[in-house]
Amino acid sequence: MAEQSLRLLEVENLKKYFPLRVGRFGASTHTVKAVDDISFYIEKGETLGLVGESGSGKTTVGRAILRAFEPTSGSIRFQVRKDEFTDVLALSKREMKSFRQHMQMIFQDPYSSLNPRMTVRDIIAEPLVVNKLARGSELNERVREVALRCRLNVEHLRRSPHAFSGGQRQRIGIARALALHPEFIVCDESVSALDVSVQAEILNLLGDLQEEFGLTYLFIAHDLSVVEYISDRVAVMYLGRLVEMAPTKELFFNPLHPYTEALMSAIPAPDPDAPLKPVVLEGEIPSPIDPPPGCHFHPRCRYAEEICRTARPEWKEYQPGHVSACHLSDRLTLVGAEEIGEAASVRPSSYKGGAGLDNPQV
Ligand code: SF4
Repeated sequence: MAEQSLRLLEVENLKKYFPLRVGRFGASTHTVKAVDDISFYIEKGETLGLVGESGSGKTTVGRAILRAFEPTSGSIRFQVRKDEFTDVLALSKREMKSFRQHMQMIFQDPYSSLNPRMTVRDIIAEPLVVNKLARGSELNERVREVALRCRLNVEHLRRSPHAFSGGQRQRIGIARALALHPEFIVCDESVSALDVSVQAEILNLLGDLQEEFGLTYLFIAHDLSVVEYISDRVAVMYLGRLVEMAPTKELFFNPLHPYTEALMSAIPAPDPDAPLKPVVLEGEIPSPIDPPPGCHFHPRCRYAEEICRTARPEWKEYQPGHVSACHLSDRLTLVGAEEIGEAASVRPSSYKGGAGLDNPQV
């Protein structure tokens, strides 16, 4: 495991439960366990990919870290200076507002995440103005600088976001997130709404910015090929729980959890003639209001045994840095991306030199 001093963020036993009232008069109370006791860390300058199906709780994790949703319980620690961790959940609302300078978010939908009534200049400047960090010519200079870094054309800062394409709008969103010089950015499905060529442009931009500023990312996505391309390590979520976490190559070529194996089998091979070998998931995704007992995945798992129906699997390290929550991880031999045409190792090369990189226009 990594030395503590290298860690930028430590999340321990994080839970986020949403109360749900049902019935005509809202009398019955249920609980949606969107995030149910998860722990992980992210090192400085690292990208941790967080994957899972819709409804797995991955977006809630990102929002809970930034306290856009107040966590139900757990601990979130952020290393602001060397060996000096801040207890994020102990911060007051006022303290949290200024602490968000360290942590920002890039959203999924570049169309709805930008205020259509504001100019690009005002959108990028807003966090600096709200936090009283710059004004006048200094503010303009900082906006110009961050716009250029995000490959935006400064001549068009006066336009409003509706005049731009999806990729251009996402670059505006990235510039806004970068304006405060954060150390940590949650990328929440940040390329999911974009065409493949534009995805390449944004992924390469994120990689360059990470190198330049030493940024740390939590990269939330459902597309495993994208996650494999950008992540140093990958964590897999299912129904509010982490089920596997490992360095990227290790996870793709040596999965230890049957759910990860099923996700791998859904990656399209770059060769259209390659045979498909999907690992079929049986049954529907259970409701997070009433998740199955024991291992949440057991109703859909083709390897399930009796113990899986009653006992929650231990979150256990099987190889250095390779953690899994499955009763059978030490005896199953699962199929990784290698056996499905090495899709994961081939697809990312197509992201190099994406369209519009050298001549971005706004
Ligand atoms: Fe499947 Fe059992 Fe492992 Fe859950 S614990 S993933 S049901 S084998």
